[in-house]
Amino acid sequence: ASVEIADVKTKLADSSVQYLMASYVDMHGVSKAKMVPVDHLPQMMEGSELFTGAALDGVPQEVNDEEVSAHPDAKSLTVLPWRPNVAWFASDLWLAGAPFESCSRGILKRQMSEAAKLGYTFNLGMEAEFYVMADTPDGPMPLSERRLSKPCYDGSMLLDNMDWIEEMVSAMNNLGWDVYSFDQEDGLGQFEIDFTYADAVTMSDRFTFLRLMASNIARQNGAFASFMPKPYADRTGSGAHFNMSFADIASGKNAFADRADPRGCGLSKLGYQFIAGVLRHLPAICAVVAPTVNSYKRLVKQGSMSGFTWAPIFACYGGNNRTNALRIPLSGGRVELRAADSACNPYLGAAMVLAAGLEGIREQLDPGEPNRGNMYESSEAELTARGIKQLPRTLGEAVEAFAADPLSRQVMGDAMADSWTNYKRGEWLSYMAHVSQWEQDRYLRFF
Ligand code: GLU
Ligand code: MG
Ligand code: MG
Repeated sequence: ASVEIADVKTKLADSSVQYLMASYVDMHGVSKAKMVPVDHLPQMMEGSELFTGAALDGVPQEVNDEEVSAHPDAKSLTVLPWRPNVAWFASDLWLAGAPFESCSRGILKRQMSEAAKLGYTFNLGMEAEFYVMADTPDGPMPLSERRLSKPCYDGSMLLDNMDWIEEMVSAMNNLGWDVYSFDQEDGLGQFEIDFTYADAVTMSDRFTFLRLMASNIARQNGAFASFMPKPYADRTGSGAHFNMSFADIASGKNAFADRADPRGCGLSKLGYQFIAGVLRHLPAICAVVAPTVNSYKRLVKQGSMSGFTWAPIFACYGGNNRTNALRIPLSGGRVELRAADSACNPYLGAAMVLAAGLEGIREQLDPGEPNRGNMYESSEAELTARGIKQLPRTLGEAVEAFAADPLSRQVMGDAMADSWTNYKRGEWLSYMAHVSQWEQDRYLRFF
């Protein structure tokens, strides 16, 4: 630890950092922190910051339980680009001198070490989609005045948003994230900024920070960022596709890549086994990567300006075909989970999908042939014949699939799996207790 402290001190020596954030996440993956003046760096790195778990959603602790302590990871040091006198650290939570079983970051690390036992690092790239809009007397509006029926990839709209995007992209690049492309997405006011993959823990730290950063940078530009999965019924939702691959620890090579793949997707046998494991547990995984009531309004066929949503509705996989829940993009060597959305807790989502994939590898499962057709158009008979099931249609269905799947407990531990289930059942019941305008319009005078 003293080496790490010295290392952080050196890194901060020429900076203007005066405050340090010992951050970790609640069950939603939202950054929670205490701020520590920089003079107290050594204490903070050694776990001085204590938290009452009971104050947070989904952390299985009672008010009378001992507090958890945050142990910042020196490698995650991130100076806030928009406020350079503050540095942020992702932390592991500890309880009574040992890693806290229900810490999201710790849960992912446990699965990472399972992968390491087989000789692999789990790499993850997350494509975060989100809306940036300004509050106006007429409600939230995109920053561009242009109103196209198919806004996707529009150059002018992208330029109209360049003030905040440029700030965001240069911030990400200064942090070493390596942005490689960004665009106006399919919804008016929707964007995606893509950056290079990393090991799944680092990527989850970055995604957590990205939501914090986008909100702050948007606000400083007179706007707000929204990571709500489906903010408008008639615009595409905001996915956060997981692009997943295994690196062989010994050789450093991508163990999911195989140019000679007989199925023509550029994926190795290991990659197919991973897919098969993920497909087996997809309903439970959905609960975690698509974790809100609203998430399931994104996972539909229709409901966007271009006619379809680009979001998956079936538990199936294919090559470079966006109608599948799992896609092998054209370059091969990786698997994209399209069911994941921007409201997910990346640590828990990555842990679930990794555990499922590892099961597929251990049991040497095979997912069968990839789907080549347009899944949105497939007939009932075709689906039955091929044994393809729908993804959960509501949060309620997804949570019950999570509760019924032994993988959930294996990944999160009993306490967190129970706490997660209880919270999400409550969320669903709260939604079901609400009668919407749509229902009144439809039924109030109907019968
Ligand atoms: N916005 C789409 C979704 O909800 C994804 C579009 C894309 O493929 O980039 O998943
Ligand atoms: Mg996209
Ligand atoms: Mg994608």
